[in-house]
Amino acid sequence: SKLYGVRDWGADYFDISAEGNAVVSLQFGEKTVHVPLIDIVNGMKERGLDMPAVLRIENLLDLRITQLNEAFARAIETAGYKNHYRGVFPIKVNQQCHVIEEIADYGRRYHHGLEAGSKAELIIAISQLRDHDSLIICNGYKDEEFIDLGLYARQMGIPCFFVLETATELFTILERSKALGIDPLIGVRIRLASTVEGHWNGDSGDRSIFGLSTNALLEVVEQLKKADMLHCLQLLHSHLGSQIPNIRNIRSGVMEACRFYTGLIEEGAPMGYMDLGGGLAVDYEGAHSNSTHSMNYGLDEYCYNIIEALQECLDPLDIAHPVLITESGRALIAYSSMLLFNVLEVRDHKPGAIPDQAPEDSHDMLFNLYAVLGNVTVQNLQECYNDAIYYRDELRELFHHGQATLRERALAENVSLAILEKISELLPQARRVSAELESLPELLSDIYYGNFSLFQSLPDIWAIDQIFPIMPIHRLNEKPTRSAVIADMTCDCDGKIDSFSYEDGICKTLPLHPLKEGEEYYLSVFLVGAYQETLGDLHNLFGDTNVVSVHISEDGSFNFVREFHGDSIADVLSYVEYDPKVMQEQFRKLAEQAVRDGKISVPMRQQMLRAFSDSMNGYTFFER
Ligand code: PLP
Repeated sequence: SKLYGVRDWGADYFDISAEGNAVVSLQFGEKTVHVPLIDIVNGMKERGLDMPAVLRIENLLDLRITQLNEAFARAIETAGYKNHYRGVFPIKVNQQCHVIEEIADYGRRYHHGLEAGSKAELIIAISQLRDHDSLIICNGYKDEEFIDLGLYARQMGIPCFFVLETATELFTILERSKALGIDPLIGVRIRLASTVEGHWNGDSGDRSIFGLSTNALLEVVEQLKKADMLHCLQLLHSHLGSQIPNIRNIRSGVMEACRFYTGLIEEGAPMGYMDLGGGLAVDYEGAHSNSTHSMNYGLDEYCYNIIEALQECLDPLDIAHPVLITESGRALIAYSSMLLFNVLEVRDHKPGAIPDQAPEDSHDMLFNLYAVLGNVTVQNLQECYNDAIYYRDELRELFHHGQATLRERALAENVSLAILEKISELLPQARRVSAELESLPELLSDIYYGNFSLFQSLPDIWAIDQIFPIMPIHRLNEKPTRSAVIADMTCDCDGKIDSFSYEDGICKTLPLHPLKEGEEYYLSVFLVGAYQETLGDLHNLFGDTNVVSVHISEDGSFNFVREFHGDSIADVLSYVEYDPKVMQEQFRKLAEQAVRDGKISVPMRQQMLRAFSDSMNGYTFFER
């Protein structure tokens, strides 16, 4: 099935079953297991976990860690690279405790470490990593407390690197190291001149706000030499940006980083570690191209290109191969989570009932609209479009001035909609179509109202026009007959999704199925494991969603390993400094006064207090 492009973006982890259900596909030896997401949703329902919910498939996180580490191991072996790979997961990409626990757990066999960009993240890293061969890489600005923590970790045997973002940071590191008598492991983040394509190209190039300029790098070397601490400088760090769609950019970035690496060795630094940051992309679009939400390379190609580039630069100079580090975030975690939600209702743009003829005493504009309606052909689409809009707007104007009635306005809007609908149906047969007419299907598309908040669960759609694959998780053997955009519950014009990756490219509408009476319709937004959870906000006070972690076994059964209930209304109110208890008391007083005033009875007062309390403790999203 090519439907919804799942074979392109699903990376073999997702598919559609013969029964028309979206499935997670997992390989256990020779055997492939397909688990329908709708079965998991039904299991959640039985456990009182309502929609919307984030569903994590633990196996996929495990698999991604394995695949990344194995791919580097293969490239290293094939190319005869004489050192090993050490991945580190940047905590900022998903800080949730159980996610980091799972990464530390599944990553242990590969000594997969953690990257920390703040004191809080360093505390997480130190407490979660149990394996002293896994690295901790500290990026970001570091104060004394941060440095002391890192030094203590080092003293306890954890290889914890401080990566210098600025030359001034070095003074504090040297000072604290002297005070505590612990030698630091130092890295330098350089600012590459190489630039990349894609959304995050600001992380590279001369104007990048991160990293040391070449001059500042030399200052660091001088300071270290002066302090007799050059032996601590062991790591070079470069990060070209996240989601790099073009492999050629990655290769040229590695080549430039190598030049800095060899330069530092020439300066007398021991080095030994090369950290290439993040950037390994996710093909959200499934286009396999170098467009922003896609990538023109695969995982193996990524690893081979890096290893080859390193060898190509270092071998002629006889420089020992460094330990290779990457800080892949999104590529490691995006696949394992999806946002599931139900559709609450659909607003279509179908015209209401239209009488065969305009009522006799109607306004001229209505007769004109009826004439246009009877006259639409493939040859005059643009003309009919112009007329429909003109007469409709004229009638609206008359209404505005009190010269047309409410019923006339409604009829004019219905007839003009019917004209536009006819035009839209004939568009595929037209030889030439103006931009105006091209956008007509989008204008006439349905709005599917989803039980979720874009601002809470998919902030990148709002902030950076991110594309995530979206499809129903059932009814996929039925032809989707409606064309839709998706709106969330915030009633904010930004809270909508109107850009989709569908089969052959990016579309402004998504084909969906009509709702069935008395039956839920579930959609899933896939590949949302990276960056979405903690960037989300409390727009309209919709809080965290329910979260479920599922582990799939060889026989296809699944186990609800973890369940987290989302925020209650009391939770989100307290985040914005309200006191739910005080609010409850205020409501009680109001109800008591109403009893005294004879407006309500005492049993009614009790019923109202219960409803207030139930709402306070309930889910912030729509509950059926
Ligand atoms: N390392 C650093 C320093 C970053 O700033 C980022 C994110 O931009 C990453 C790693 C993770 O990048 P990605 O999610 O593309 O792997």
